[in-house]
Parts: sequence; structure tokens; C-alpha cells
Amino acid sequence: MSDKQINQNQYEYKAEMKQLLHLIVHSLYTHPEVFLRELISNSSDALNKIRFRRLTDANILDPDSELKISIDVDEKENTFAITDTGIGMTKEDLINRIGTIASSGTLEFLKKLKDENKSADANLIGQFGVGFYSAFMVTDEINIESTYADMNSKTYKWKSLGEDKFFIEEIEQKPRGTKIHFKLKDEFKEYSQNWNIKSTLKKYSNFVDFPIYVNGEKVNIVSALWHRKKDEIKEEELNDFYTFISNDTKPPLDHLLLNIEGTLNFKALIFFPETAPPNLFQDALEKSLQLYSNRIFIQDDCKELLPDYLKFVKGVVDTEELPLNVSREVTQSSPVLAKIKNVLTSRIIGQLEDWAENDIPKYEKFYNNFGSLLKTGLNSDFTHKDKLIGLLRFETSLKPKGEKVSLKDYVKRMAEDQKVIYYIMGDHRDLIEMNPNLEYFRKNDIEVLYLTDPVDVFTIPYIFEYDKKQLKSIEKSDIDINKDTVKEPVSESQSKNIIELFKKVLGNKVEDVIESKRLIDYPVTLVVGKQGFDPQVEKMMQYIDKNFTHSKRILEVNPSHQIIKNMATLMLVDSNNELINNTILQLYEGALLLEGKLPSPNEFLRRMNEFIEISTKKD
Ligand code: ADP
Repeated sequence: MSDKQINQNQYEYKAEMKQLLHLIVHSLYTHPEVFLRELISNSSDALNKIRFRRLTDANILDPDSELKISIDVDEKENTFAITDTGIGMTKEDLINRIGTIASSGTLEFLKKLKDENKSADANLIGQFGVGFYSAFMVTDEINIESTYADMNSKTYKWKSLGEDKFFIEEIEQKPRGTKIHFKLKDEFKEYSQNWNIKSTLKKYSNFVDFPIYVNGEKVNIVSALWHRKKDEIKEEELNDFYTFISNDTKPPLDHLLLNIEGTLNFKALIFFPETAPPNLFQDALEKSLQLYSNRIFIQDDCKELLPDYLKFVKGVVDTEELPLNVSREVTQSSPVLAKIKNVLTSRIIGQLEDWAENDIPKYEKFYNNFGSLLKTGLNSDFTHKDKLIGLLRFETSLKPKGEKVSLKDYVKRMAEDQKVIYYIMGDHRDLIEMNPNLEYFRKNDIEVLYLTDPVDVFTIPYIFEYDKKQLKSIEKSDIDINKDTVKEPVSESQSKNIIELFKKVLGNKVEDVIESKRLIDYPVTLVVGKQGFDPQVEKMMQYIDKNFTHSKRILEVNPSHQIIKNMATLMLVDSNNELINNTILQLYEGALLLEGKLPSPNEFLRRMNEFIEISTKKD
């Protein structure tokens, strides 16, 4: 949908664009110098596009013009102008590309930032495809003059005063490319100073692959960092390059410089961010790896280079093995890229393994930020599955809150007679620790992994084993209970009678009722039958499919618990006592309540009040 045309040359922004502009102008200017990076980055993209097109198409305007960016400032007039000889924009581009929000979540996200009064960081703007508008932080009126690369393209001028409208008209013919110019607001006069522009540019202009001129003077040495040797690159350069390509304000956690030679040839510079962006799980907003072919930029966000679960890294990959007229279709099915992907995946995983072994604090930092995404690889990348399993870390019943262990640590600690690896899933540790099914394990010091990450529901049940040991939820009925913890139970026949009565009263509410070997302080617990799903998995399925019905559960009864003993005594006196039936219902519903699955609390409460009445009665 394009914006509303008011008359021949005048257009009105869509409502959400107006709001966005308002936000940018009025609340996002903590780092106004960002506008410069955004405009240069747009020019550099436009130059990359024309360089690419020029390789195969001679039929363009000004085919021989130098590919460059020129910035011209005038301190007296207080003006700023940036000109590129890039691909340019058609009239339609000016209407549709400038002036619309690329991604739908942008406005909500920026509003949220503002509401939370977070230092409304203008650096974020670039991540959302509204970079151009950051210029409204430093000016009230922007002018664009642009000529598209096709032969016979006309030159159009676009002008906007910010929040409401923009104007477009055809003007006298100019060479191919785009010029953006404006007068600075008084408080941002500094951006019309030659020296100031030069020093602001210093940080990243060397990574722009085209010469940049400031008032006619060339200010950068174009150099591809990843073509240099490891020891010739300064850390500061790496950090600046990272900031340039990622829009992240913090320096990266680490980087990986690869120079692969042999049957496959490529260079790569990969960064691991220190923190996860708020939109980590949304694909649309990700810009991960850029693809270069022998230093020539081919495409941004090349999905073919990495599996989805590693898309948190940023960087560049440069290979000479692609045909130069490579198109998106070619990259999508390129065997070269498939091979590069394989090597990159192994190297990145190798780096993570190295931290996990030799730099635990760094690995923890990484894992806390990106562990959930990494786990999604367990279901999709069977080649690296074993390595990914090795990289998993979990909280556990044997360690204090916050401390995580690997499956390897777990297995090392297992007693000789323990055959499987136990886990329990739950929303958080405190809830898990109140689960009656955990009782037996804690009392007997049998380690249980606590799976609290929502992603675990989708991934962990599908790791069937580690080191030939099965992974098993302790909520299953068929777990191996071999430690003798049952103290003074009711007699065998009494227990049998009680279980029969439970079955009669509960009927088809449950799959079965059995005697519990695991319980100590709880009278009953619900467990999952052989065919059933873990409660946490069911919760997720219900969330996805509203019609999903829970599978029936098995109720385990603790024959040593005082309540069960009291019931046995009551049964001896009067097996039809109403109190016994009510106790059974109450115990069952109490177990449901603990799991958050009690459908209606009314009956439960009514019975509870009856019990209170009986126990408070004076005789
Ligand atoms: P983004 O660059 O993240 O897509 P912008 O709002 O900065 O978002 O720019 C929107 C679009 O306008 C760009 O994607 C591009 O198509 C076009 N554009 C911006 N600047 C230029 C330029 N200097 N030359 C050609 N096209 C441009």
C-alpha cells in the first residue's frame, strides 16, 4: 500500500509512519551522530547494487562514473549534503521505499522503548529499516534528489518537513545516483563542520568499500578487514567493524577469523554478540552474515550460509568460488554455499566447545543469551546433534540456583546402579522443587536436571539418550525406584482395598491407580502413563491447539502416609463412610490443583470446608 496522494506532487504519510517520525524526532536522539552512519550505509548499499549490476549489464546511465560517496558541508550556511553514484531511486521508490516502515513490529517496539524510558537508543533504528529517518534528529526538512540507473530515467526531487507530508516533483536532469541534503537545526551545527564530520567518520569509513570524500578530500582507505592477517588487525578495528555491521552498541563477546584453503576456499570474519537482541527469535529482523565474492558485496543476510539456530552471529563471508553474476536464486541452491555452511557450522560449534571447556564464564554469558536458540538445532541439524547435546547446560537438584551443569558432569556423578538420566520440566525452579514427584530423588540424592527453558519442551524429549543413557522424565510412572524408602505401610490387603476404592470413586477420571514407591511426605501424586506426555509438554500443546485434551494420568498412592493409614482404619469400621469417598476426591483434586489443572475449584473448596468443620468440632 502506498501513501495517500493529496494532489499531483503532495503525499501524506500513513498514520503509523507519522507516529514513528514523531518518536524519532522527539524522543530518540541520544546519539544523533547515528544519522551519518545510516546515510552512509544507505549510500554504500546503493553503490553495492550498481557495482553488482554493472558486472553484467552495460545498459545503465553513466556506466563509467566513479563509485563514490561525497559529503559536502558548509559551516556558514549550516548545511549538510551526501551524494552517491549508486543505483538511485525511481519515483515509485521514493514513494514506497522512503516513507514506509519495512517491518511491522517496529512501531510497537520503539513505543515500548519509549514507555519504559529506556535510553531510547537511536542505534536501534538501523535494525528496523527506518535508518534514513534518523536524519530528522538533526534537521527539520530533508531533500532528496535521485536518478535511477535505468537508461532514460528522470531525476526526481523528494522533500519532507517531517511528520505529515512529503512532496515529489521532476527536476532538471542530474547524473545517476542520489543526493540527500538539508539545513541543520541550530543545536546540531557541529555536523556542518568539516573536521567534525571527518572525525565522526573515522570510526567506520574504512569499512565502507567505496571512497568517501569530505568537501573534496578523500578520507578513507578502503580495505577488507577479513583479507588481513590475524596479527595485523587491531582489536579496536574489529570492534569498530562490528559496530558498523551490527548496529550493536556493545563490543562483541568474541570473534572468529577464518581463512579456509584447499578444496574449498573462503575467508570469514564472524562475531559473537555479547547480548541477544530483543527480536532474536523473529527471522524478519535478523541481519546475520553478508556474502562477498572476492571483496565484492553480493548480499546481506545470506540465509544459506548458516543454519537458523546460529543466526545470532554477525559478520562476513568472502569466497572466490561463486560466479560473479550470482543472483539470489543461485545462492539458494549453490553447492559452494552448502559446503561453506557446513564448515562455518563446525567452526562456530568448535569455538563454543572451546569456551565451554576453557573459558566457562564466557560460555555461560553466551549460553544465557543464546542457549535457547542454539537448542532449536537439536531438532533440525542431525549432523551436529551430538555436539549440540554436549553444549547443553541445565540447572540441577544437586547445585544451587543459577549454577548449570552439562550432561557429561551429570553422567560422571551417576551412581553405578542408576541407569538413566533424570529430568523434570517446569516453569521455574521454585515450582519444580515443590513437585511431589521429586521427593524420592531429593531424599536419596539422585540428581535430577531442572528443565525450565520454554524451548526445552520442544527439544529435550527428542534427545533420547546421551552416552548410551536414556533421558527420562521423573513424571513418568515407569521409573525405576530401587531405594527402599517406604516406611511402615498399611498391610498389603488394606492397601489393595484402598486402591480398589480409589479406582471405584475416581472411575474414568484417571488411567489407573497404583501403589507408590516413590512418595514420602505426600499422600498421592499424579504421574504420566507410558503413552502420555509430560505435563509441561501438554501445557504447550494446549497453548498451540485450544482443542487439545489432556491425556489421563495415573494416580500413585502412598501406603505409608498417615492419611492413607487413617483411611484404612476408617474402612475397617465402615467401608461406606462418606468421609472416605470425599477424602479420595479431595486428594485427587489437590494433586490436580498443584499442577494448575483443577478445572473448577468450587467443589474442592466445599469439601475442604466440610473437612475443616469436622476437624474444628469440639466433642
Ligand atoms: P533500510 O536502509 O534499512 O532499508 P531506510 O529507511 O534507511 O531503511 O531506507 C529505505 C530504502 O530507501 C532503502 O532500502 C533503499 O531502497 C532506499 N534508499 C535509501 N537511501 C538510498 C540511497 N542513497 N540510494 C538508493 N536507495 C536508497
